[in-house]
Amino acid sequence: MRSAKPYTNATFTKRVDHAGGRHRPPRAPAEPAACVPGCGAVYVKRRWSQAPSARLLAGSAGTPLVVRLCPACRRRRTGVPHGYVHVEGGFFVTHRSDLEHLLHNEAARAREDNPLAQVMSWRHFKDGSLLIATSTEHLAQRLGHALEKAYDGAVQYGFSHENKMAHVWWKR
Ligand SMILES: [Zn+2]
Repeated sequence: MRSAKPYTNATFTKRVDHAGGRHRPPRAPAEPAACVPGCGAVYVKRRWSQAPSARLLAGSAGTPLVVRLCPACRRRRTGVPHGYVHVEGGFFVTHRSDLEHLLHNEAARAREDNPLAQVMSWRHFKDGSLLIATSTEHLAQRLGHALEKAYDGAVQYGFSHENKMAHVWWKR
């Protein structure tokens, strides 16, 4: 949805104090911005997006693009995942390429919806299992759901709301 209304910073002067959270800078981050040399997402209307419409909007803003890493790329560089997907079992070992293909596709779709949702690492273990680290809790859940939907299996979800962490165990 695009609004024809001109965007002004004044719209966003409202402050939200998250209990116990760190203080946010009083002003909204500069925009439009581009995540370079990261994923190339653009920041416009206070959202990071990979959508072509957002790029157009950023390009037509009449202001030069600010270059800064998006939170997902920053997070990836500092190496703090917010989700893990554990994949294991005999069926996984014998159908590995199909399942990994599904997971890659799902991750790519998730990243289209939300550029902050990214796979951070993809680790294979000697016992044949796979561990995927994700930048968001939601992406880990989404990958678990995708496996469950396509291949059934036994799935378990675990959350820690304190440190914003999701674990998904899928086995078949
Ligand atoms: Zn990025």
